[in-house]
Amino acid sequence: MNDDLQKSSLQELLHFSGNSVRVSILRLDLIHPVVSGNKWFKLRYYLEEALSQRKTMMATFGGAYSNHIVATAFASKAAGLKSTGYIRGEEAPQPGATLLHARAYGMETIFINRETFQNKEAIIEKFNHPETYWIREGGYGITGARGAADILAFPGMEAYTHILCATGTGTMMAGLIKAAAPQQEIVGISVLKNQFSLENEVRHLLNEQETQKKCSFIHGYHFGGYAKHPETLIKFMNQAWQKWELPTDIVYTAKLVFAAKDLIAKNHFPPNSHLLLIHSGGLQGNLSLPPNTLPF
Ligand SMILES: *Cc1c(COP(=O)(O)O)cnc(C)c1O
Repeated sequence: MNDDLQKSSLQELLHFSGNSVRVSILRLDLIHPVVSGNKWFKLRYYLEEALSQRKTMMATFGGAYSNHIVATAFASKAAGLKSTGYIRGEEAPQPGATLLHARAYGMETIFINRETFQNKEAIIEKFNHPETYWIREGGYGITGARGAADILAFPGMEAYTHILCATGTGTMMAGLIKAAAPQQEIVGISVLKNQFSLENEVRHLLNEQETQKKCSFIHGYHFGGYAKHPETLIKFMNQAWQKWELPTDIVYTAKLVFAAKDLIAKNHFPPNSHLLLIHSGGLQGNLSLPPNTLPF
């Protein structure tokens, strides 16, 4: 098993619901307290490619709260590469935890106004250098999906009938589909409002044979949109901690776990299904909440 997975563990969620569906969660959040578990996987082959092309600088894009930005900073440093993050919007007077962490890992952060940020090609043209390796926003791409496919190298994964993950760009989901056994269904829980392009974006990362595999997309659990966290969600996060000692994040994993529980209660999954939830990390995102909002 590879090193990153050794720090992860499988947690059974007992009494998750009253019917015959069993649920476990793969705790990729245990890999690192700040760097999201799934980002770590998504980045690994980008880094490998950059090193083999003798690049010295990783560059990517993201918002001021982006898990991908922190992960790129950390992973680049670990690989002995410099990094630059092109950050959407104006610089805030007080930088948030995300940017502070990214800078602590040696990333240079350059702010790009929202309008210019839409046009990534123009940014690349302006800042490009022969030794720079560019990664798309959120790590989207086939190389990222190949990395995410390695998540299912964790022992015992073939036992699950359904594997559920939160989706942003859909790269992790595409990777799970690549690695899934034929009888397994990959279920993506979108954390963005009305993200109906998701299915196409996932398919774009798959080959013809992989697009035949079982997968489904669920759109009803965004809680108002990306990073929105109404009181019901915060309450649920508190309960998840009390019941299962399960820490979740406001952007991705709380919505995933909530969705799983709700779908089970609505008999979405056939009896005797054995669900695996991917805890993809993201806990650093909670640092944007007021102190004492959460007990963990
Ligand atoms: C980025 C992220 C996701 C979404 O991954 P995509 O590959 O962009 O769909 C899910 N969970 C966490 C914690 C993340 O940081």
